Amino acid sequence: MNDSRSRTDDKNPVHPRVGATMDDRFLEHKTGHAHPEHPRRLAEIHRMIEREFKNRLILVRPEPATVEQVETVHTPGHVRAILKTAEQRMSSMSPDTQVSARTYMAAWLAAGACVQGVDLLLNDAVDAFFALVRPPGHHALADRAGGFCIFNNIAIAARYAMKSFGLDRILVIDWDIHHGNGINDLFYNERRLYYYSTHDILLYPYSGLAGDVGDGPGRGYTMNIPIPRDMTDDDMVYLYNQTLLPVLSGYRPQLIMVAAGFDAHADDPIGKCGFTENIYARIIRLVMDFFVREGKPMPPLFLALEGGYEPRALTASVRTVLMTLIGNGIFPKPPDSADAPVMDRIREIGSIHTPYGII
Ligand SMILES: [Zn+2]
Repeated sequence: MNDSRSRTDDKNPVHPRVGATMDDRFLEHKTGHAHPEHPRRLAEIHRMIEREFKNRLILVRPEPATVEQVETVHTPGHVRAILKTAEQRMSSMSPDTQVSARTYMAAWLAAGACVQGVDLLLNDAVDAFFALVRPPGHHALADRAGGFCIFNNIAIAARYAMKSFGLDRILVIDWDIHHGNGINDLFYNERRLYYYSTHDILLYPYSGLAGDVGDGPGRGYTMNIPIPRDMTDDDMVYLYNQTLLPVLSGYRPQLIMVAAGFDAHADDPIGKCGFTENIYARIIRLVMDFFVREGKPMPPLFLALEGGYEPRALTASVRTVLMTLIGNGIFPKPPDSADAPVMDRIREIGSIHTPYGII
């Protein structure tokens, strides 16, 4: 880690180097008129970046992932099935996952953008990286697409970090309102990746019970926290304070990856929760502040776009995260005092299993 990760020197503040993927080829993945995962989501984010962040981010164009990289996660049969859709008419890979003529290229680029982001982070070229990609990835399983996801972008990039950099403690924080069953399942039996997810279990894919904590050598390295829909931002910060911080100190991640879906926003047509866009920045701040308090360097921080289906709310959420990453986000400190009623409501859904006991 070099000094650029230390942001505590008030006299000589060093702004973090923040990279992001920006590429119009992601807009060529068409899903049909009424589909919520439409190109306008990313187009609006691109306009916001042009307006506000053009000179403050290191913007990169991705290369497609290699077949070898994709096949560290997916079966050759799934890879072939996606390749077959190239330059074809629109079709469906699952009841909710449409593909068009150029989807295969967007999917390959999305995985490649995540590999590139991890590569830049682990070569110390940037301190944080946001892969602004579509299609999303956290529902994709080894042998099939689903939940709007074609390839599991984060899983592919995590495998790349393990293989090329020898990492064996990668933490994935999944704050998308849907359970990331793909990431959950792909790493369920191993401890090299710790999967932490907060989600509404009444939504697709209806998995991620609190008792699902990993298996075999991976037992205790998955934390699934089903959450009630009526939580506030403060409730959520409290929850992350109580449950994520022990993971940060106990697991000591070498790389933090965020499955950054923004569909828990109050304006999202699918998530139907009550959070504002500030919640995402506050979670990032919670993580950053933890390392400052501990006097330890912040691990490389990678984010990949997952859900978020109301373009304005999505863009506002991405903006607050970027503001925080570049050091300009000012958000209230999280409450960290005694118990809060939210924990009781979460416990009604299921106990929270942490590596350090059940709470
Ligand atoms: Zn989602």
